[in-house]
Amino acid sequence: MSEGLQGKTFWQSEIEAIKEKGLFREMPAVSGLPGRVIHVNGTRALNFSSNNYLGLAAHPRVITAAVEYTLRYGAGATASRLIAGNGEAHRELEDFIAQWKQTETALLFGSGYQANVGILSSLVGEGDLILSDEFNHASIIDGCRLSRAEVRVYPHLDLNRLEDLLRQGRHPRKLVVTESVFSMDGDRAPLKELQEVCSRWGAVLMVDEAHATGVIGPFGRGVAAEQGVTPHIQMGTLGKAVGASGAYVAGSKSLRDLLANRARSLVYTTAAPPGVVGAALESLRIIASEEGDRLRASLAHNVDLFHKLLGKRPGVSAESGHIVPYKVGDSLRTMTISRKCLTKGVFAHGIRFPTVPEGTARLRFTLMSLHTEQDLKTAVSVLEEAVADEFSSESNPGG
Ligand SMILES: *Cc1c(COP(=O)(O)O)cnc(C)c1O
Repeated sequence: MSEGLQGKTFWQSEIEAIKEKGLFREMPAVSGLPGRVIHVNGTRALNFSSNNYLGLAAHPRVITAAVEYTLRYGAGATASRLIAGNGEAHRELEDFIAQWKQTETALLFGSGYQANVGILSSLVGEGDLILSDEFNHASIIDGCRLSRAEVRVYPHLDLNRLEDLLRQGRHPRKLVVTESVFSMDGDRAPLKELQEVCSRWGAVLMVDEAHATGVIGPFGRGVAAEQGVTPHIQMGTLGKAVGASGAYVAGSKSLRDLLANRARSLVYTTAAPPGVVGAALESLRIIASEEGDRLRASLAHNVDLFHKLLGKRPGVSAESGHIVPYKVGDSLRTMTISRKCLTKGVFAHGIRFPTVPEGTARLRFTLMSLHTEQDLKTAVSVLEEAVADEFSSESNPGG
């Protein structure tokens, strides 16, 4: 033991501690074009773990646009947006997004993570108040920390508690931040009610539409558009249903101006590669067209069918849409069931602490417009088998 410790780096002990808790993570090796089928560590499986909800990441028009924009504008943007990286492609995409979102302006970021960190740290600071839903994404949590504002976390979607906190807050600036479709539970925030609460207490509402962009609302504009509200700050990523990479913030010109001056995750990083920007633009054109409507209808059909097939059973919530958690609770057990599913040809990743609260580990199924009815039936029967198998081995540990 002591000998081993001699040569051991301090992070090796950290890894051992992570492993002991059953929380060790590895990056699965995947291959092939993104679609309804994926190869994971050499195993072919139906893909229930991507955010490529509409299959646009491998759409021929989107791939062609990536190539064309690369040929036209180069492989890299060569500089930050504020120096020499603010190319035609970037401006074209921002104009398109502003029109599509019906906002005055839009501003691109390199990723949703960078957008959230940049927005929160630019808009509020020491002495201000951020109210954040307890299930908000890590990028929002990190943005809150970086802002140095006082952060109060309210229980998931608890508007009464939120209102209490707003009433108590004596801060000059108050910002409420929420996801619209929650990434790990698939449920939706009542943005209209949230907007009303914010208006009553002079708070600004920031909405993260990462999992709704392209998928929900008229022309895939998101939950805010669906509920007929226009929060001050609307962000979404271009890496999920859009199938490319990057993120946008849609809002007023003054919001854009402030972020372009303050957001360090925008100012001090190279602008997105033109090929990626071209791909996102073409994908959004599809999303805003009749083809987008057809893709969304096909996804909605699959959502209905999958929930019907799953039925009412413990661990499944009827609240969720295209993100369907199957809650197991225990981390190790969750990962075992996920591995068993993969062996049987279904890839549904296990999600554990710290991504979700301790004791709520789950398999997370994400649905795609491309899945066939047979795919969904296979997924449910494989899940059933894997769960039954796992819980029968408990009473027969030798087996
Ligand atoms: C994925 C995600 C992000 C980060 O977006 P990226 O473009 O992948 O960096 C931000 N917020 C939420 C809610 C997400 O699910």
